[in-house]
Amino acid sequence: MTFAPHTELETLSLATARARVQAGTTTAASLAEQHYERIAAIDAPESSVGLNSYLALTKDRAFAQAEKIDAAAKAGNALGPLAGVPIGIKDVLTMTGAPATAGSKILAGYHPPYDATSVRKLEAAGAVLLGKLNCDEFAMGSSNENSAYGPVKNPRALDRVPGGSSGGSAAAVAAGLCVGSLGTDTGGSIRQPAAFCDVVGVLPTYGRVSRYGLIAFASSLDRVGPFARSVADAATLLEVLAGPDPLDATASEQPVAAYGEELAKPVSGMRIGVPEEYFGEGLDPEIRAAVEKSLDDLRAAGCTVEKVSLPHTRYAVPTYYVIATAEASSNLSRFDGVRFGLRAPESNTLAAMFRNSRDEGFGAEVKRRILLGTYALSAGYYDAYYKKAQQVRRLLAQDFLAAFDKVDALVCPVTPTPAFKLGEKTDDPLKMYLEDIYSVAASLAGICGMSVPCGYTGAQLPIGVQVLARPFNESAMLRVGAAIEAARR
Ligand code: GLN
Repeated sequence: MTFAPHTELETLSLATARARVQAGTTTAASLAEQHYERIAAIDAPESSVGLNSYLALTKDRAFAQAEKIDAAAKAGNALGPLAGVPIGIKDVLTMTGAPATAGSKILAGYHPPYDATSVRKLEAAGAVLLGKLNCDEFAMGSSNENSAYGPVKNPRALDRVPGGSSGGSAAAVAAGLCVGSLGTDTGGSIRQPAAFCDVVGVLPTYGRVSRYGLIAFASSLDRVGPFARSVADAATLLEVLAGPDPLDATASEQPVAAYGEELAKPVSGMRIGVPEEYFGEGLDPEIRAAVEKSLDDLRAAGCTVEKVSLPHTRYAVPTYYVIATAEASSNLSRFDGVRFGLRAPESNTLAAMFRNSRDEGFGAEVKRRILLGTYALSAGYYDAYYKKAQQVRRLLAQDFLAAFDKVDALVCPVTPTPAFKLGEKTDDPLKMYLEDIYSVAASLAGICGMSVPCGYTGAQLPIGVQVLARPFNESAMLRVGAAIEAARR
């Protein structure tokens, strides 16, 4: 499905956009202008298509940056790796000049006074930041239907979800409403929407990209990562984003590889593992076939492919939903009507003000998770739930590390089903949580992963394949992803 105007923006690559700006065959300002025209025409809720991926546009900031880039290009100065490239930001990251809602009513009216490190790094590399992108409330969800600001439509099938929680980030890249975007992934929120929307999404190793300025959901799991239309573009973005940060103690000092150059290395001789637990009951046969086709492509490119076992996989979803909710209940206690956003009027006592603000401000899924998490952390239950979950988390991580002693990367499905219909799973939280069956284990283990488009169902719904690698081995992961992508061209 293509949409006018400026239809060519649907396939514009990051490298091409930057090269044109540097050469002066286009300007950063006109690129931004074209994207804004397209957003007005197909994304705004009242527009013809109404994708609803943007929650706020940051035109002043975008055009000020574009002007700077265009002046530098005109002067013949060497430009940054993202010069003039229009990028969108998931609305859980802070950016001055724009509200930050995290998809929640409780943050309505909150204007953060500082930039997230990832936002600052993109801009320093020359990116033009177009606006803030829709997402599930506090990044809790798999369909973007938990946003207080309405769902996002999947640009490849308008009656279907774009995935979540970074639904706006994936949809905007797929629809040509930005060339790349930032999302966050706590249990699949970059990989799953990338798979549903036919774009590339990267989950960097825990600690690879600073989380400073990210509105926290579950701090031991939250990661910031890029969406793009190709593996090469994603690699460029990751290279800009990665690295230490004095403002985030969990951001690693590990050296950042030249990911773009790493892609040129052949995959021949690489060992690929196929985790048997990821091909069981519930996997859509068309997804299985597409992933197997990618494995054939890797064999043809000279990789060896072998079965591996991740024996604790079946505990991943329950473990994730204990740890993520426990951390969320603690992180979200700061939203009490005092410092940020919404305050319930007409409350007689302080306790009533807290209660009413939280009651009015949080949506149903967020409340459910705060209740679950508070329960798991409460006296008498802590050992049975939270501590046990932490022990299982260690076993899940050990499964992966043992596999990576034998293979360079793992290849498996991202999701058990393709994009489902809007409204199809909203009344059954458990069904929604089971969407995360192939994504949460990598989150718990802290390893890196990505989703790469690998085919379509008979009904033309996109399919993604997941590539996982050892912590800080993004290079191997990206090479395998690039080989899968190349085989389809
Ligand atoms: N779908 C998962 C959840 O609802 C993952 C969300 C995420 O990665 N932010 O928690």
